[in-house]
Amino acid sequence: MISPVLIDRFGRKHTYLRLSLTDRCNLRCTYCMPEFGMKFTRPDHLLTTPEILRLGKLFVGLGVNKIRLTGGEPTLHKDLPEIVAGLSELDGLKNITMTTNALKLQDMAQDLKMAGLTGITVSLDSLKPEKFNQIARRNRLDQALTGIDAAINAGFNPVKINVVIMANINEDELLDFLQWGYYKPVDIRFIEYMPFPDTGWSEAGFLPYAEMRRRIETEYTLSKVDSDPSAVGKSFSVEGSQILVSFVTSMSESFCGDCNRLRITADGNIKACLFDDTEKTLRDVMRDGGTNDDLKTVIQQALQSKPYEHEPMDDLLKKDNRRMVAIGG
Ligand code: SAM
Ligand code: SF4
Repeated sequence: MISPVLIDRFGRKHTYLRLSLTDRCNLRCTYCMPEFGMKFTRPDHLLTTPEILRLGKLFVGLGVNKIRLTGGEPTLHKDLPEIVAGLSELDGLKNITMTTNALKLQDMAQDLKMAGLTGITVSLDSLKPEKFNQIARRNRLDQALTGIDAAINAGFNPVKINVVIMANINEDELLDFLQWGYYKPVDIRFIEYMPFPDTGWSEAGFLPYAEMRRRIETEYTLSKVDSDPSAVGKSFSVEGSQILVSFVTSMSESFCGDCNRLRITADGNIKACLFDDTEKTLRDVMRDGGTNDDLKTVIQQALQSKPYEHEPMDDLLKKDNRRMVAIGG
């Protein structure tokens, strides 16, 4: 008998699916992908729109109530509005969110809202044009800021802003981001820089949460806000402002014990842990004519092999993991 819910060996219930739509991107962020030589998945190896919607329905039937569309850059998928609309018809799915670099939001935010997208998270690592260009390897800060405004104008509230903080690169902008967002309908999430193969990560570039928070508290008064135990961030309100500031402490204070997340890569592999290189194909099960029960069996195998927690930061680079762009962050 295949379990009708997604509970792993450690009793963790999985209700959140991160679904990658593509491994392609219109930026080349240093921490995520190489500037040249990236081997992209062949188009016929990517999940098709009907396959994506079939998996969405199956996972919602297994208790998933939140799906995040990610990538690569999900707005590059030609069927994105159709995928959002298809998912929004699923009974039991409460949240359909997307993580994006915002470059295409000016043209798409309104349509995505109408299609049923409930939340947008934008990655933005610098407010300075030259620094943005250095990190993203494309000179597109203005386009990203216009995209954020478009998301706000379309009614996404709050728009979440992800900022990967790297020592000696953008650590000097912690306070600038608070000042920028202070009166906007945004939440700001500072993310610890995570090690992935071939992305130039080094411990010298790592700035832990405690130090980020200490620097912010030299200028702002933060108060802890209770959040869902499975939330990846520690959240704080900011005195005098409506915004929340969060810290994603994956490296210095891992939150694996309450993990409720599963991932599907753009080529259709289920990945139970971001840092575990074990993957199982769902795409091939579908293309070999597999039934939903066949898919559920593979999903349960992946779930039951999920580790309790990821290795310490220094050991992660030794793993044969994919880069973030190919996993779906
Ligand atoms: N292209 C979209 C974007 O950038 O928002 C979605 C995909 S991106 C891989 C998802 C998230 O992963 C982004 O917020 C990005 O900053 C984060 N990310 C990628 N590599 C990372 C790393 N080495 N450390 C921390 N966060 C990382
Ligand atoms: Fe592209 Fe997002 Fe990776 Fe930057 S973080 S290269 S925007 S997928």
